[in-house]
Amino acid sequence: MAHAMRTVATLRLMCDPRDLGALAEVRSASTRRPTVTIYEVYPGGVGYAQRLYELHEPLLADAAQLVRECPCTAGCPSCVGPQALAREGNDEDAKSACLRLLSASA
Ligand SMILES: [Zn+2]
Repeated sequence: MAHAMRTVATLRLMCDPRDLGALAEVRSASTRRPTVTIYEVYPGGVGYAQRLYELHEPLLADAAQLVRECPCTAGCPSCVGPQALAREGNDEDAKSACLRLLSASA
């Protein structure tokens, strides 16, 4: 989910992918909940954070569309990120899990 969110955020902001980072936490120290954080990599920021905050809902929709329309069947590095490969053997594939999380977050 973090990978998909970062990918669509880059497109929405028309910035270089290296301008943004993404962090997925099972339990964030800040929110005390499962949390995905998309952040600017530059100290002090260049204004992307405010735009990301404003684009919260469109980013969730864009990320769901990216994953849903990817031609893969179970999630791949292009849509859900490289961790898709590490999930082999789990009951739920990475693509379904990502779409479920995006839906629950919307
Ligand atoms: Zn895919």
